[in-house]
Amino acid sequence: MDQLTKEAIRYLGYGRNAVDEQTLALIADAFDILQSVAGRKSIYRIFCLEHMDGDKIRFGNLEVESKSLAKNMKGCDRIVIFGATLGIGVDQIIRRTSLTDMAKAVVLQACAAAFLEKYCDECQEQIARELREEGRYLRPRFSPGYGDFSIEYQGSITRMLDCAKTIGLTITDSSMMTPTKSVTAVIGASTSKENCHRQGCEACAKKDCIYRRDTL
Ligand code: SF4
Repeated sequence: MDQLTKEAIRYLGYGRNAVDEQTLALIADAFDILQSVAGRKSIYRIFCLEHMDGDKIRFGNLEVESKSLAKNMKGCDRIVIFGATLGIGVDQIIRRTSLTDMAKAVVLQACAAAFLEKYCDECQEQIARELREEGRYLRPRFSPGYGDFSIEYQGSITRMLDCAKTIGLTITDSSMMTPTKSVTAVIGASTSKENCHRQGCEACAKKDCIYRRDTL
C-alpha cells in the first residue's frame, strides 16, 4: 500500500482497523479523479526573520506574537511564507458527488486532504533544496491556527504572496479558504541542521528537541 493511500485511510479515521476492499477501490478511484481535476498551484517568498522581545517575531512588514511559533522559529534567521492549493475543480467535484453519493464524497474529502499534504511536501522539498545551497535547513511547516498562531494570519500571508492573483487563493472574512483544499504556512530556515521530520514534530522521534511544537 502506498503512502498516499495510507494517509487517506488515516484521514478517514480507520486507525489500525483493517480497510475493506470496497473502500480501497473507492480510494483508488478518488485519487484518479483528483489527479485529473486538481489544478495544483503554489507560491512562496523568503524573508529575513527578526526575533523580538517576548514571543514576537517580525518578517517583511508583519509582526506576529505567538509563543508556539516563536519557539518553533528559535535559531532561524530566514522564514519562508508559503501558500498552496488544489484549485476550485476539487471543491466542485466534491460538492457534485455529495449530491448523489455521500460515501464517495467523504472518501474524496479524505483523499483530497492527503493529496494536498503530499503536494505541500513536494513543494517544501524543492524549497529545501534551494535553501540548502546557501547552507540553511528547513523546520516543519507551521500553519495559522496551529497552537497560539492565530488563524487570522492566513489573511496576512495570502496578501504578502498576492495569492488571489498568483494561485487563485482567497480568504473570507471568517478566515475560510477558497478553494477549501488549500494551505498557508510559514517555514523556518536555520543554519543549524535539525533533520526535521517532514510530517512535523508530532511524527518526529526527537522528543527532547527544544524547537518541538507540541508543548507551549
Ligand atoms: S521535533 Fe523534530 S520536526 Fe520538530 S523541530 Fe525538532 S527536529 Fe524538527
